[in-house]
Amino acid sequence: MKCSICNKNAVFLNPSYCNVHFNRYFEKKVLHTISNFNLLARNEKIAVAVSGGKDSLSLLFLLRKSGYNVTALSIDEGIADYRDKTLKHMVGMCNNYGIPYKIVYFKDIFGRALDDILSSEKVRPCSVCGIFRRYLINRAAKDFDVLATAHNLDDEAQAVVMNLIKGNIGLLQRQGPVSGLNYSGTFVKRVKPFFLTSEKEIMAYSVINKLNAAFGECPYVGVSFRLKVRDLLNDTEMKKPGTKKRLIEWFLYYKKNLCPAEEINISCCQLCQAPSQHEICSACQYILKIGN
Ligand code: SF4
Repeated sequence: MKCSICNKNAVFLNPSYCNVHFNRYFEKKVLHTISNFNLLARNEKIAVAVSGGKDSLSLLFLLRKSGYNVTALSIDEGIADYRDKTLKHMVGMCNNYGIPYKIVYFKDIFGRALDDILSSEKVRPCSVCGIFRRYLINRAAKDFDVLATAHNLDDEAQAVVMNLIKGNIGLLQRQGPVSGLNYSGTFVKRVKPFFLTSEKEIMAYSVINKLNAAFGECPYVGVSFRLKVRDLLNDTEMKKPGTKKRLIEWFLYYKKNLCPAEEINISCCQLCQAPSQHEICSACQYILKIGN
């Protein structure tokens, strides 16, 4: 297969492009998403949430290349033989490109690494990890104007289906290229420049640009509802190409025309003063449970 523009060998199919034209196509698409949804401004201090995987390294690389003022922000939960390896990739890339980075450790804030917590407490790994990670990211992002995450079209299609199946209309309303409760003024604005970009495209971009992303899976990952939805969507996509894109287009139409998000009153956690919909935020509830 040849590149549809220059006739060199294609490295990506549908659309078929060589290295150079795929890079141009990909970067133009992401920059268009940024301007179309008004995600980022050149004068803003941007924290990019980076795990060391292909998605987050690609986002960091692209934003930096496009002249945005980025800092990599990572959370080290303390998962031996996993997070230490993925963060090595992040540190390597930041050193190569002169990108500032900040790593926040579970151990420093909660007194224990995730491995330690899970060895002595009966808690579900991804529940406690997810809540603590979100808490730390929100806390660290306060030093910035905006937090960019590398959620892609596949992630977002999965989230739409999950929220529909579970009847989480409130969460569905708050999904989008600008996500979360940013309109309440309590959290730093969160944006997703890869909202319209597929996982396959990001994989190709990371390989073409030799981003040396970390592979491997967290040892605590289980068979979650999200994985089942992911498999269902991948299967449907194979049979009916364009399914995920159509789902996201429907979602954006629904959000804009049918169901605008409601303002939600956010108060503060009585223990840590972090923004919370409850008297005690989820992170503090876990801290009380695990006895720190
Ligand atoms: Fe944390 Fe679960 Fe992700 Fe592992 S798979 S990093 S435990 S949320």
